[in-house]
Amino acid sequence: MVAVEKTEEILNKYKRDYLFNFSRLLNKAMVEPDMLQLMVTSRCQLQCKMCNVWKQKFQEESGAEDIRRFIDEAISMGIKTIYFTGGEALLRKDIFELIDYAARPGIVTTINTNGAFINEETAEKIARSKLRNISFSIDGSNPKTHNFFRGEGVFEKAMRSIEFLNYYKEKYGRGRNSQDKVLDIAMVSVIMKKNMEELPALADLARKMDCCYIAFQPLVNNGDLSAPLENNELWIEEKDIPRLQQIFDILAAKKKQFSGFMHIDIMPEKTIKHFRGEGFENTCFAGFNRIFVNPQGDMSFVCFQAFGNIKKDSLKQLWYAEDTGKIREMIRNCKKSCTQFCSERSQSDDISLIHEQLETEIRSLSQDAQIAIRYAESSFLQSMRDALNAKPEDPDSDIVNTLNKLENILNSLRG
Ligand code: SF4
Ligand code: SF4
Repeated sequence: MVAVEKTEEILNKYKRDYLFNFSRLLNKAMVEPDMLQLMVTSRCQLQCKMCNVWKQKFQEESGAEDIRRFIDEAISMGIKTIYFTGGEALLRKDIFELIDYAARPGIVTTINTNGAFINEETAEKIARSKLRNISFSIDGSNPKTHNFFRGEGVFEKAMRSIEFLNYYKEKYGRGRNSQDKVLDIAMVSVIMKKNMEELPALADLARKMDCCYIAFQPLVNNGDLSAPLENNELWIEEKDIPRLQQIFDILAAKKKQFSGFMHIDIMPEKTIKHFRGEGFENTCFAGFNRIFVNPQGDMSFVCFQAFGNIKKDSLKQLWYAEDTGKIREMIRNCKKSCTQFCSERSQSDDISLIHEQLETEIRSLSQDAQIAIRYAESSFLQSMRDALNAKPEDPDSDIVNTLNKLENILNSLRG
């Protein structure tokens, strides 16, 4: 029974990877997104130096009833991760009700916070809620640096918040070894000129606070995610790049040192190119791997225009509608030097690699299971090939390239 379940799990996982690849090639959703990102409020009690959100005028927020209906729709489509974000999402009075509503078997609920709002009572509420992951925005390893960016006393409050949370997650049986009940705590740090030297100390701090990961992202213009911010006092200039590279080397060593306890997410090459204003191409899956909803209920793929509103439109219909293909095409052709790793889906970038990874993963299975998986993969790819039908006119198109690769894979499978 276990072997059958394992076979199905592997097949479903790789089928999904293939479908994302084909979806992107065809500007057509063939599978539901991985994540629903709900910006439940743009309100925030802080005025961080690198942020534009707090400068915007307050606008009406979607009501709980609309959000609940939308969550239902997303989950019934097959979406597995519901991410609550802001502003400061914890400022919403009904946030715990929404989290618990979304949390169902197989669904991961996650939230990000500045941590300045979590007193002991709120920490206990979080630990008792069905939240699975909470990430804190921490940009300095000490009060002086962090408070410079985010305001007086914010570092101290955020650290106390994490301490309270660690205490209550143990008290309510949600520690590291509690498997599907675990409450993961993480940190996210923005890389800027003033905190660059502190990145290794930030990784140490995250380890000390028992975080499961820390992610480092370069400073961006959060009015336009990929636009550089040269001439901003927080921007890292060319003369500082060699030092930034050394710091990434230190972080890479720490990544090895902490593996097994904490993951360190860095993207040295892209970050350096981003600060240099050099272009690089992304295989961007925005438009395929998640849906973003703003506080007014407008749905978008994060980038480019909205394609509907949760108060009046059906997510499933819009997601698979031909019309959204135009926005997806713009995303696919986007040449911005973007560092939004949440729009990446590296496991779907290349069908040959998907096939190789599948082959590696099945090696430990029985001969029978391996044959069954290879047969299923071959049939699936053949059916995709049939569905894609005739090759398009343009012999250089990505679809033709993909079909050719597919052909080779099928031939190798046939032996
Ligand atoms: S906490 Fe987040 S949303 Fe609030 S001002 Fe700071 S960066 Fe912006
Ligand atoms: S690469 Fe993707 S996520 Fe980045 S700006 Fe372009 S469309 Fe948006």
